[in-house]
Amino acid sequence: MATTATNRTLAFLTSSPSLSFIRSLSATPLLRSNVKISDEAIFTSEHVEMRGALNKLIEKEINPYVDEWEAARSFPVHSVIKKLGEGGFLGPTRDPEYGGLGLDYSYSIAIAEELGSITCGGVPMAIGVHSDMATPALARFGSDELKKEFLAPSIAGDVVACLGVSEVGSGSDVASIKTTALPKKGSDDLVINGGKMWTTTGTKADWMCLLANTREGDPHRNKSLICLPMNTPGVSVAKEIKKIGNYSSDTAQIYFDNVVVPRKNIIGEEGQGFTYQMLQFQEERMWAVASILLPMERIMQATVEYCRERKAFGKSILDNQVVHYRLAELETELESIRSFLYRLVGLYVAGHDVTKLASMAKLKAGRLTREITDSCLQYWGGMGYTDEVPVSRAWRDTRLLSIGAGADEVMLSIICKLSGTLPK
Ligand SMILES: Cc1cc2nc3c(=O)[nH]c(=O)nc-3n(C[C@H](O)[C@H](O)[C@H](O)COP(=O)(O)OP(=O)(O)OC[C@H]3O[C@@H](n4cnc5c(N)ncnc54)[C@H](O)[C@@H]3O)c2cc1C
Repeated sequence: MATTATNRTLAFLTSSPSLSFIRSLSATPLLRSNVKISDEAIFTSEHVEMRGALNKLIEKEINPYVDEWEAARSFPVHSVIKKLGEGGFLGPTRDPEYGGLGLDYSYSIAIAEELGSITCGGVPMAIGVHSDMATPALARFGSDELKKEFLAPSIAGDVVACLGVSEVGSGSDVASIKTTALPKKGSDDLVINGGKMWTTTGTKADWMCLLANTREGDPHRNKSLICLPMNTPGVSVAKEIKKIGNYSSDTAQIYFDNVVVPRKNIIGEEGQGFTYQMLQFQEERMWAVASILLPMERIMQATVEYCRERKAFGKSILDNQVVHYRLAELETELESIRSFLYRLVGLYVAGHDVTKLASMAKLKAGRLTREITDSCLQYWGGMGYTDEVPVSRAWRDTRLLSIGAGADEVMLSIICKLSGTLPK
């Protein structure tokens, strides 16, 4: 029985293009190689230089190990974050007083886009949570003391941050979270009880940007964001969650049992946590859109090359009009997302409120990555359904984009609210 199955597998593999050919595809030049990064309106030669340096670091310190980390379902987040910190990639927009570079948001987007050179989704996601999802509110509203304690070492890469918003019973409906951080009688401390769900890097992070209810009342005005050291007594990892993708990034459920933190760990004004988190989400969403551009280009390029090589019915798969037209359509859509993102970033840098446009871009990017990865996987046939090819990893990893950082339906409800079309 076992021998027959092995023979069948061998026959399948030998009738398919060689695995070394397939593996080489993920490193092929990009579709848009005729457009230089510095030709884009939002990027300058400084952006190009920064992206080049980051790309070198990725190719030397990250990509050679990605397959190993994916198989181990874990990666050394502290050493990767340290290397990125040393390279100055973790706080381009942050105040130089705390180790940042004091640049505008287009540099964060340049970095987010270049992180797409990493050949999996889990590692860039953990980096993005650390640099662009857990720290924007702290950088904008935190006290000098908190910024020295949590922001500066995060930018340097000495500590790793995670974000605790979602809970077992509250994901899309952020206002309904149940975790409390209430004043401890007779002291200037808060006592935290409850738990968080889906915390990226939750088993390894040094501190969490935690959203909790700091009093009773209006759910939009009773919350605060709090810097919580993860080694505080009473913080525990309830479980590590097994996922269908982003293998190398750990995702945890966290419990808080009478966790005591000083009240001064509240970021900005007490009661403003919901508003701060909604603002923090804008950067998270733009970061997420930027992070999928290179992976989608890479997958389409690899698919073009695979389909050019692979023959059926006497011609290459690519020579079927339905295939090359579909790829052309997807490439066009990806370029329109890129243009949309760059326009959005330009407006954000100029000080505009981009809530509606960021929600639109995130919605469209989530849907498009599903279409691209699904169509490409289809054209790889049986090989697309194996673990041997980059398209299946991209298909698994990027599925998250329509769910995380606000599901597609949440993006739609934000757009409707801001367009005035929600039923009264
Ligand atoms: C791998 C991974 C990593 C994550 N990392 C983090 C992290 O680091 N920190 C963190 O805080 N969270 C994190 N999340 C949580 C993520 O943000 C939530 O999963 C997401 O917000 C959706 O919440 P939910 O899973 O509770 O879905 P639910 O709120 O239960 O919604 C389920 C589905 O219902 C639909 N839906 C919801 N609302 C509406 C509506 N108004 N109208 C119509 N349909 C609707 C949507 O299709 C949605 O997908 C992560 C999640 C995953 C899977």
